Amino acid sequence: MLMVILMYENKKIFILGMAKSGYEVAKVLARHNNEILVTDMKEQDEALVNELKKLNVKVVITDEPTSLLDDTYDYVVKNPGIKLNHPICLKANQIGIKVISEVDVAYEFLKDKVDIIAVTGSNGKTTTTTLVYEFLKEHKCKVKIGGNMGYPVCSFVDNVDDTDILVLEIAGHHLYNCYNFKTNVSILTNLSEVHLDHFGDYETYKNTKAKIFNNHKEDDINIYNIGNIDSVNQIESMNIKGKNITFTSLPNIKSNLYIKDNAIYYDDDKIIDTKDIKLQGNHNYENIMCAIAATFKYGVTKEDVYNVLSRFNGVEHRIEFVRKFNGIEFYNDSKATNVKSTQIALSAFNKDTILILGGLDRGHSFDDLKDYLVNTKLIVCYGETKNRIKDFADKIKIKCIVVNTLEEATMTAYNNAHKNYVILLSPACASWDQYKCFEDRGNEFKNIVNNLK
Ligand code: ADP
Repeated sequence: MLMVILMYENKKIFILGMAKSGYEVAKVLARHNNEILVTDMKEQDEALVNELKKLNVKVVITDEPTSLLDDTYDYVVKNPGIKLNHPICLKANQIGIKVISEVDVAYEFLKDKVDIIAVTGSNGKTTTTTLVYEFLKEHKCKVKIGGNMGYPVCSFVDNVDDTDILVLEIAGHHLYNCYNFKTNVSILTNLSEVHLDHFGDYETYKNTKAKIFNNHKEDDINIYNIGNIDSVNQIESMNIKGKNITFTSLPNIKSNLYIKDNAIYYDDDKIIDTKDIKLQGNHNYENIMCAIAATFKYGVTKEDVYNVLSRFNGVEHRIEFVRKFNGIEFYNDSKATNVKSTQIALSAFNKDTILILGGLDRGHSFDDLKDYLVNTKLIVCYGETKNRIKDFADKIKIKCIVVNTLEEATMTAYNNAHKNYVILLSPACASWDQYKCFEDRGNEFKNIVNNLK
């Protein structure tokens, strides 16, 4: 009789970092008869730990896990948030144990079961992943969404059937430790120099992101940004199988998806007029193009695209339209925790703008905002960075009012706005000086705006 030996069966596996993904991967592996140790430095939810213990998973809370790893283990599964040079990873490399990602484990159990559409890139991942999901849902496909946003990939292993399409946001932090993960459709939104603290250098970062295409076969689809030189160079340096579909919002570049006469085109076919799209900005047109490229092969139509885009306001906290009140439009871009994101938000509006800036002080300069402030009539700043922002605004002669809290900032912006103005919260700083996370900051802004009378 032919015996099928599964990659993750009857093995000894060390899971570094519990959280949501460590918990899900431990459950999947435990059900396949593996011997499992989970370590984490922080105390974990007792109910979840007890659930794992019932599956014979050993959970050890320690900030010194290195001595627990020895060469009797077959794999280390590393949580994506943990540094690449964590002592456990270094030791695993030394003693010849492969460090893998939760995504690779999930794939082993999902392969042959479902189609996978994966989205990676430096910016636009969550928006694009959401659009892919919305288009497919509008077309009545059976679709599930997860990965870096929402549910870890392992949580789908026992939750899918073979007519499902899985739409996954995949971070470089996962891909670094992926080897076998294979998708049917992969999107690389763009490449720029971010997360270098994690990856060490830009070359490693680019190579890691492009691993999304590594296992493609002839009938898979590669979607990439032909206006983004780093993406093009990266793709051209590789031998990727599958059909390429390119997109750009830049003029005069030959591409499958492009903008002409204020509409998005796919080859010679007009898909949608930009006036019918609620999302703002060329960067969002690019995210939309990615989603069109990924979903038309599943039967999504122009009508589906129109239906979604004429109602979709954006993913929460990403240039999210909040309300129009007294002729003033309010946008929440609390996710903009760095200058680059705020540049993009400012580029999305062609109206007089009041910009709310400020938050945690990481010492970064605001000078690179200068060229993007052409429509900005006033900056209102608060938080740890408020005085440095004021100095910057004075230097470039833009009116700036300093306050202490987001509530004061919002009210100051409102009291200084005129009809047809945009008030944009796009702080260019992390929120941690006053909030637990950017979501809390964005929610507070929305509450204040929605309560204006
Ligand atoms: P990610 O998941 O990659 O962080 P999001 O979709 O959450 O991306 O968007 C975060 C921010 O990144 C947005 O508020 C916007 O400022 C910027 N952004 C979104 N899409 C793009 C894009 N295609 N190109 C460049 N910047 C983008």
